[in-house]
Amino acid sequence: MNNELRLRDKAVNWHPYTQMKTAEHIIPIVSAKGVYLTDSDGKSYIDAVSSWWVTLHGHSHPYIAQKVSEQLSTLEQVIFAGFTHKPAIELSERLLALLPNNQQKVFYTDNGSTAIEVGLKMCIQYWFNKKQKRSKVLAFKNAYHGDTFGAMSVSGRGIWTDPFGAMLFEVIFIDVPTKENFEANKRIIDQHADDIACFVYEPLVQGAAGMLMHESECLSELMTYCRSKNVLMIQDEIFVGFGRTGKLFAADHLTEKPDVMCFSKGLTGGTMPLGLTTCTNEIYDAFYSEEKDKALFHGHSFTASPLACTAAVASLDLLLRPETQDDIARIVAQHKAFADKLQLHEKVKCVRQTGTILALEWKTGNTTSYFDDIHDRLYAYFLNKGILLRPLGNIIYLLPPYCVTNEELNHIYTTIFQALDEV
Ligand SMILES: *Cc1c(COP(=O)(O)O)cnc(C)c1O
Repeated sequence: MNNELRLRDKAVNWHPYTQMKTAEHIIPIVSAKGVYLTDSDGKSYIDAVSSWWVTLHGHSHPYIAQKVSEQLSTLEQVIFAGFTHKPAIELSERLLALLPNNQQKVFYTDNGSTAIEVGLKMCIQYWFNKKQKRSKVLAFKNAYHGDTFGAMSVSGRGIWTDPFGAMLFEVIFIDVPTKENFEANKRIIDQHADDIACFVYEPLVQGAAGMLMHESECLSELMTYCRSKNVLMIQDEIFVGFGRTGKLFAADHLTEKPDVMCFSKGLTGGTMPLGLTTCTNEIYDAFYSEEKDKALFHGHSFTASPLACTAAVASLDLLLRPETQDDIARIVAQHKAFADKLQLHEKVKCVRQTGTILALEWKTGNTTSYFDDIHDRLYAYFLNKGILLRPLGNIIYLLPPYCVTNEELNHIYTTIFQALDEV
């Protein structure tokens, strides 16, 4: 393999979630188009994980590229305090029109973790501004909401967070809702009800936990209970938003509406970093005041980047086209047929699907773990076959860009069956 870029990279770059000493397969990518990534040797890979769950319409999409390029030579950046611009106005208008109708205002950031930070600050300061003592946060066990300190605090604790344990704020963790545990969760909420500022959750799919899934009816029931206790709800749609669940948003599967929603990842079609947090007028109004100290004191240098907002508007144009909606339905159906076959394989412990997200658990002697060494073997196996799949421990998941063809899907499915027999 062409080693030049690799060696230069190794000399200067520190990669995310990577033990640099043992990392072997850091691959220089020189171009990407549609579902394919091409490395510096000219080998191509199907990006079956949408490059960490962000790419919706395929890489280097010409329509998004054109819109961003026009914007780049018109207005590339402007401070978002005291100034505004059309891409942010248009994106907010277009997005709010698609969300539950209680979502009325948009606060911009530049990634998912900070969208969560803002959601937490909105809810905690909401109670502060109202002079009510509510400061605890409720979250699901095994949650993942990002890597900044607030986002880490409301995420499941483990080896990732251990070095920082003492610095994370206290959170009340509950099990994801099932048909059986509603009463138990109710009791926990009751115990703390007057102290809980907000409940933050990944709706329907806990991505980083290993694509764990729960039923929309059970989540709706829990949300309704939170509503009855005046617990504000922060719905983290950073991963599941923009069609991943088969509908535009996870919210479209639920009967109860959240107070706050967080978006990033697929927001720009995966082309540029952008995050945003939406909220109700009820929350916004708790900050809207003659008193300066009631404002939300939060902002990032690149808040509402005009380039990223332009990419997001272009991505929405593509997402709402009937062709894209048909593609999403097609992927859901293809996954379903594959899942039915996969279920019967002796090495498969279980298969789960929510919309375009498919996950299978590989039977190993050990209990399921992120550090299962089968991860390394599977990762290398698929890369060798020209497919980027990035198992979470012994869990293989598939969430391709929506432009993936049936032939490409079948190639991935066949290779997974081969891996089951060969690895
Ligand atoms: C990825 C992710 C985040 C964090 O977003 P970043 O942009 O990586 O900071 C938060 N919540 C969920 C559900 C995610 O999948």
